[in-house]
Amino acid sequence: MSLRAKLLEAANALMSALRASRKTRVISGTALGLSLVAFGAAGVAPIAPDAADLPVTLVVEELPLPDLNTQIASLSPAVGQFIAEERVRPGDNLSALLERLGVNDPQAAQFIRSDAEARSLLGLRPGRRLQATVDADGRLLSASALLPEHRDELKRLVIERGAAGFTARQLPVAPDMRVEMRAGEIRSSLFAATDAAQVPDAVAMQLVEIFSSDIDFASDLRKGDRFQVVYETVWQDGEMVRTGRVLAAEFRNGGKTFQAIWFGPRDASAKDGGYYDLHGKALKKAFLKSPLPFSRVTSGFAMRVHPISGQWKQHKGIDFAAPTGTPIRATGDGVIEFAGNAGGYGNMVVVRHGAMYSTAYAHMSRIAARRGARVAQGEVIGYVGSTGWSTGPHLHYEFRVNNEARNPDSISVQHAVALAGAELQRFRQVAADMGHRFSLMAGDAVQVAAR
Ligand SMILES: [Zn+2]
Repeated sequence: MSLRAKLLEAANALMSALRASRKTRVISGTALGLSLVAFGAAGVAPIAPDAADLPVTLVVEELPLPDLNTQIASLSPAVGQFIAEERVRPGDNLSALLERLGVNDPQAAQFIRSDAEARSLLGLRPGRRLQATVDADGRLLSASALLPEHRDELKRLVIERGAAGFTARQLPVAPDMRVEMRAGEIRSSLFAATDAAQVPDAVAMQLVEIFSSDIDFASDLRKGDRFQVVYETVWQDGEMVRTGRVLAAEFRNGGKTFQAIWFGPRDASAKDGGYYDLHGKALKKAFLKSPLPFSRVTSGFAMRVHPISGQWKQHKGIDFAAPTGTPIRATGDGVIEFAGNAGGYGNMVVVRHGAMYSTAYAHMSRIAARRGARVAQGEVIGYVGSTGWSTGPHLHYEFRVNNEARNPDSISVQHAVALAGAELQRFRQVAADMGHRFSLMAGDAVQVAAR
């Protein structure tokens, strides 16, 4: 018998074995491997009317097919067992999911619903995969699924049928970390640009956070602004399960370039790390540029009304247009100096930041701070409203130096944190590596994925 004939026979044998099984669309892993080999060869054959005249035979000889009959025979214990995989669909329930997997096993369903470990299957979100090994009678032999991350820990749930019934275990899974690079240009909005560059929202929000002392993303963005970002992603089973930290970023905003490099002390927890500019100076400053949070939801409306020079003396503040109820954040660490009604200011909170500086937030619909309490930068202290002398919902924000309102754009209060000595040396290596990555992306909005 010629090799080609043997292959075709093997493929036919395999196909009938599969047809005999309860579900042809679910086939065991071993059988799948074999079928690809067999179909690959069968697919090649019709091109060659006379196989001997063509180099096709070379390809066939390289295929690892020592003895197909033995291989098929070795499959027989597994014949009648299938590995099936399904994704959780929106609105799915356990019964529907098991049915799609070809599982008809009330005992298994009961176990999954009642076992403390196995129950976590019920919480799988749409899109998550569940693999199952099922026998010819639809009995579940084993099941496995990657669980949603809990405190940055990845676990795989494994359910197995044993002599004494089902068992379920959660096994730790080592994350597969990758580094991705993206670049983009602002044409209409930040999220339009990050979407176009396929930057996940979680990374876009990190960008906003990283540059929040320098850029008010609600009002400072200009058409033509550009960004580059290098960030970690965590992968499992060939799928990205989450984004990690932004390792480096650059933002060119209205002619100014801001750069950020993540740097953490060696052998220390991630909490001790921070973002630095290329010279090793900490990026985080004493004050946020905007008291209003920026998000995909708020990006459409949050508008900053810049006081024009002639009006500054009368107005002494910056008005942020925003719907009633928008959270207001303390722009810097401090202590609540005042929280209450203040006439024309309406409901107002004043935060003191050391001897020299204070910030005031007026016209609140609701105050969420107590006099004397400590607040951290970014903490919510109230909500946008229209109390006092106000014609519509907005936040009136004052930045005060020695109790006098000043234009915050004219003042830069920086944390005096800079790297030095050996840390600075080590930082320079990290910065050089990131600088190299940036130069790879330089030019236009290319997308580069790298391990
Ligand atoms: Zn105002």
